[in-house]
Amino acid sequence: MTRAFNYCPSCATPLQDLSAQEDGGLKTRLRCPACAWTHWNNPIPVLAAVIELADRDGQLLLARNAAWPGKMFGLITGFMEAGETPQQGIAREVAEETTLQVDALNLIGVYDFQRMNQLIVAYHAVARGDIALSPELAEYRLFAPADVRCWRAGTGYALADWLVSRGHTPRWMELPARAGTAA
Ligand SMILES: [Zn+2]
Repeated sequence: MTRAFNYCPSCATPLQDLSAQEDGGLKTRLRCPACAWTHWNNPIPVLAAVIELADRDGQLLLARNAAWPGKMFGLITGFMEAGETPQQGIAREVAEETTLQVDALNLIGVYDFQRMNQLIVAYHAVARGDIALSPELAEYRLFAPADVRCWRAGTGYALADWLVSRGHTPRWMELPARAGTAA
């Protein structure tokens, strides 16, 4: 794993793996030997949306990230920005990435995605409007809820949980060991 930091972002001293006493006991982390700045490496919250299209018979929109290898379609995701609520953040991401307008949001759940050190906050988004993808996304597909396949990673479990909440039995796809960075 590559390091997120080589130098202290506070005082520019080279960081070291140093042990220190914390609430949970002695712990080795990337720390600054000069000012004690610590790289906690906490998971980053990522917002995700299961998009149900109110104006297209309730079909679900999944999109393929241009950076992903293969034909993996996933949920719309994005990072929260400072000064917004999670609901505002996911509505903004959906609009930026698809131009769809979100009518309603409901929390599906919160999921770990440890490989990327992320915490997935997943919403069901009822949306409508024209679809034009941002350059980040290569293509999208619409699925009837009964036809979609889930994947065994953070956002895939969110999709499965939403399907169960609608009375569907999730069907799973088998992924290769590392299928890009699909959350
Ligand atoms: Zn420092």
